[in-house]
Amino acid sequence: MSVPSAKNLLTEPITRLNGIDTTRATLLARLGVTRGMDLLFLFPRAYQQPAPETPVERFADAMRVTFAGTVVDIAERISQSGKHILGVQVTPDGGGSVRLLWFNQAFRKENIQRGDRLVITGELKSTVLNWEMVHPQTFPAGGETIDLTKPIPVYPLTEGLSQSTMRFIMRKAIPQLTGHVEEVLPEPIRLKLDVPGIRRALEDIHSPPTIERAETARRRFKLQELLVLQLALSMQRRQREKSTHAPACDTSGLIHARILNRLEHELTPDQESAIDDIRRDMAKSIPMNRLLQGDVGSGKTLVAQYAMLLCVASQHQAVLMAPTEILARQHANNLKRSLSDSRVRIGLLTGSLSRSERKDTLNQLSSGQVDLVVGTQSLLSEQVQFNHLGLVIVDEQHKFGVLQRAKMRREGIQPHYLVLSATPIPRTIAMSLFGDLDVSIIRTKPPGRSEVKTYVASAEQLASWWQFVERQLEKGRQAYVIAPRVGESAEDESVANAQNTFERLREGSFRHRRLGLLHGKMTGQAKESILEDFASRRLDILVATTVVEVGIDVPNATVITILDADRLGLAQLHQLRGRISRGSVTGFACAVASPGANIDENERLKAFAKSNDGFELAELDLRIRGSGDLLGTSQTGLPPLKVANLIDDADLLELARTTAREILTNDPELTEPSLSRLVNQTLRRYGKSLQLADVG
Ligand code: ADP
Ligand code: MG
Repeated sequence: MSVPSAKNLLTEPITRLNGIDTTRATLLARLGVTRGMDLLFLFPRAYQQPAPETPVERFADAMRVTFAGTVVDIAERISQSGKHILGVQVTPDGGGSVRLLWFNQAFRKENIQRGDRLVITGELKSTVLNWEMVHPQTFPAGGETIDLTKPIPVYPLTEGLSQSTMRFIMRKAIPQLTGHVEEVLPEPIRLKLDVPGIRRALEDIHSPPTIERAETARRRFKLQELLVLQLALSMQRRQREKSTHAPACDTSGLIHARILNRLEHELTPDQESAIDDIRRDMAKSIPMNRLLQGDVGSGKTLVAQYAMLLCVASQHQAVLMAPTEILARQHANNLKRSLSDSRVRIGLLTGSLSRSERKDTLNQLSSGQVDLVVGTQSLLSEQVQFNHLGLVIVDEQHKFGVLQRAKMRREGIQPHYLVLSATPIPRTIAMSLFGDLDVSIIRTKPPGRSEVKTYVASAEQLASWWQFVERQLEKGRQAYVIAPRVGESAEDESVANAQNTFERLREGSFRHRRLGLLHGKMTGQAKESILEDFASRRLDILVATTVVEVGIDVPNATVITILDADRLGLAQLHQLRGRISRGSVTGFACAVASPGANIDENERLKAFAKSNDGFELAELDLRIRGSGDLLGTSQTGLPPLKVANLIDDADLLELARTTAREILTNDPELTEPSLSRLVNQTLRRYGKSLQLADVG
């Protein structure tokens, strides 16, 4: 039999390691461990501080102790509720008796026999006759000596693989492997980040002398993971900047002043600084790639308008893509209104155009007769050809996938690119989620915006809430009632639900009022005419599915009732609430839980009522849901992080980001030999998902 070479052990199947047979290998495979390397990088999820060795005379209730003893009896039974109970009677070396108890862990009896000498560690419980310990840890005495001074690692497990087996596997395997691992971080970077070398860190993370050493080791792997991510993103950015050319726009003071003159409002300071960013970007022939974040109602549209006009002023075409037809039409109407006395020609492209309308628009786009086109996802179709596309703006990015974003960039010349998002993503997350996007943020809303009071109600309280709504209507205000989708199923059900709600209200509490119904299944024209009726106060109440969630702007609507609110995410609730903070009058939002839902235990609804700050809510939402969701493959196309966490490790992310940028500034082609391992690791992990060309 040939002895595998040292290096191979890392990449060879784990069965080559001492202590791992095929049975164990099969179990480990379920944890994603097939090669030596995988095992080495399967880190403990926690550590236990070992309890001090304690003589039996000093035993006390609730004390954590370690002691040695002999097994005198083993008994098992099934409890009334069907639980398997394993009881092991042990006589400690100093005398007395302790009963060890395990629930539903029948497999443990295989490893324990009468007469065995064990070292036992756990929390004591005093009973009438006896000491008890529930789910203690046990080690064979004399065999593996356990070091009572060191933290004990707790590994992720899978069914059939016990913690003690896992520890045994690791104790045997780690020393065989660590020696062969090569340092990934060049020395100067390692020192700058102030992290231990990779071998020491591996030893410390699996068998730390102290908890602090384990944490220091973990910090190294978090930083390394984040550095690799940030390096990949920086490489992608460089690649884009090098290989593409965008039309540079004239951003002179004259043009700037002329555009400002056209805008409906005086800019807020945040809008102004976002516009500064955009002006600087669009003056260059490197395509702008910018995310504009601002809470609902913060005035992103005005900034988008500026960018479009800047583009058009340089004789390039601009595209504004909205997530829904309603919103596209609203954008188009607003633009037409504010540009009515200019030469800017505006087109609309949505799914509900007639064949001939569509053909006309397409012709005008490709011949350059339209300067500015607003539309929905139908803009992404292959048939849409531009004459000289200069700018693409995507409104409400969270509604689009990343892939679609890539599709828009198929032309030879790359347009400038601006993404508007009202889902306020914490900055650190945005930096990773949207990769190579620069970020501008609008924090303060335009002056004179109203406040919104938010209530949470149970379904039973609905009747009295309707009375409140009625009093608002009497004051001449208008109201939204949102009936979101119920359950898992599709659009149809939500339409039915909105329809029901509409009919119930029309025949019940609001018999005397004018009600309209809006849902996604209606034709573009029908939607528009209902919205038009609502906007011009021919309707008092608009019952709708969540289609009104994004962007719709009717300042006199000041009350929103969100039914089945417990089924919606925080971001969506906040978006909906944004519909009623358009004017200068106090708005009222009521989140009504579905029948039977417990509103006191709903974290999301509580947070929604408490905070009106989109950024704060987004962070809360992430904490409730975990960032995994947001950074899952489905959202970003990037592999998920294993060690680091974008919420808790925000400071490390910043450090990784600056370090990555420094690396690329000092060595743009990454040719420095000491970087090769780091670069290889980056390409291996992100090369495909980020389409990184081979470097070095
Ligand atoms: P969002 O960021 O949600 O897209 P909008 O762009 O729709 O927000 O703006 C919300 C409201 O604020 C609109 O009615 C808009 O006319 C108004 N608005 C935008 N900018 C200003 C400003 N600088 N001063 C006053 N009102 C503004
Ligand atoms: Mg908007």
